[in-house]
Amino acid sequence: MTLKTKTALVTGSTSGIGLAIARALAAEGANVVLNGFGDATAIEETRAGIESAYGVKVHYSSADMSKPEAINAMVREAEGAFGSVDVLVNNAGIQFVSPIEDFPADKWEQIIAINLSSAFHTMHAAIPGMKARGWGRIINTASAHSLVASPFKSAYVAAKHGIAGLSKAAALELAPHKITVNCISPGYVWTPLVESQIPDTMKARGLTKEQVIEDVMLKAQPTKEFVTVDQVAALAVFLCSDAASQITGANISMDGGWTAQ
Ligand code: NAD
Repeated sequence: MTLKTKTALVTGSTSGIGLAIARALAAEGANVVLNGFGDATAIEETRAGIESAYGVKVHYSSADMSKPEAINAMVREAEGAFGSVDVLVNNAGIQFVSPIEDFPADKWEQIIAINLSSAFHTMHAAIPGMKARGWGRIINTASAHSLVASPFKSAYVAAKHGIAGLSKAAALELAPHKITVNCISPGYVWTPLVESQIPDTMKARGLTKEQVIEDVMLKAQPTKEFVTVDQVAALAVFLCSDAASQITGANISMDGGWTAQ
């Protein structure tokens, strides 16, 4: 239990990678602030479930990561409820796929706001408290797309490259304060969202499940295996440990070899 007495705020943690990170940090003893959208009853079940499974306190914030005032209020709320935000995980993210000339301008703005600017605003609000306590961990869920591009994902690739740069600048600023800032850059992660796309792709392309996984989804991933949410969460937990105190400004790939090519 390395994180007892600490508080972790994980944006976009009502599903997928963020939820796995929130659970893993709770398992280490951290109080947790969940954030994200979804069905209110399901979110409450998740919140209460983490509390009872790990004996920690869990608060939920519905703050919209595209709204700077809401982000600021969420951080203040977290500090009010638990006294601090010690671990900040910027994870909320959305995707939109389109050629640039057809890319709706409002989608561009939304992706930059949620996938990139939200991390500036959470840091802006949470860093003073971390500095005052002389300890902090900031972990940004980037992507293989923070290092390489794919066509038709211009806003996502720009935002993810941006968050990699933001993390490096923040790491340099915060190095004297025992606050580390790192990116985790997953390749294709097995989430319900990914799994649910398989039957349609099988039908549309006349492929078997294995062909969809290996030749379509994992084309760029040499291991031909998905990353799991628990693997990403385990790395986040490690980055919070004392053993990781000298890892800062790093962009750690977990992509089955994708970006080694
Ligand atoms: P997901 O759709 O399961 O989760 C996204 C979370 O963000 C949800 O909780 C959702 O409610 C929340 N969210 C979306 N818009 C929001 C907003 N405006 N305000 C607050 N919360 C909002 O997706 P995921 O696959 O778990 O993705 C999480 C992160 O991991 C994203 O940043 C994504 O870019 C990154 N990532 C995912 C993969 C993958 O293959 N799944 C790979 C690399 C990186």
